Amino acid sequence: MRKHAQAFKSVDHDHACCVNDALQNAEHLCGQKGARLTGLRRRVLELVWESHRPVGAYDILEALMKEQRAAPPTVYRALEFLQEQGLVHRLASLNAFVGCVDPQTPHTGQFLICGMCREAAEILDENVTTMLRETALRAGFDVRRQTVEITGTCNRCGQRSGNKEIHP
Ligand SMILES: [Zn+2]
Ligand SMILES: [Zn+2]
Ligand SMILES: [Zn+2]
Repeated sequence: MRKHAQAFKSVDHDHACCVNDALQNAEHLCGQKGARLTGLRRRVLELVWESHRPVGAYDILEALMKEQRAAPPTVYRALEFLQEQGLVHRLASLNAFVGCVDPQTPHTGQFLICGMCREAAEILDENVTTMLRETALRAGFDVRRQTVEITGTCNRCGQRSGNKEIHP
């Protein structure tokens, strides 16, 4: 069972812990699979994890170029590698990347994307995955990959605007 409550972390959570966990997971996972987490790949992962806001490839490139010489193809390849290893997910609707909260478990992701703070939270619900696959199967469709992107308002932003009158 996975916890769904509080998919969005509180504003004052210790994000350094998130980053630390993500990097440790990545090292562990790549070590297990014999995949090479080079310095650049590690740094790109760290940049994706800079916040819970999905980040575009171009922004990563820009940040990286401030620290080192990085050619665009290198950054795109690093992002591809991280995707292959399940360390980051690509959100098509935003054309951006977000770090995976549970790369040890192979899964397809479901994402809640807040339109106000632009953060994304991953929920991993096998029931949703299975339901979608079975529905597709009944329609004669064989699902290879699925990423569900749901937009809305997170609990924090909802609370913040909750007391005010909402003007359309
Ligand atoms: Zn965090
Ligand atoms: Zn994930
Ligand atoms: Zn929000």
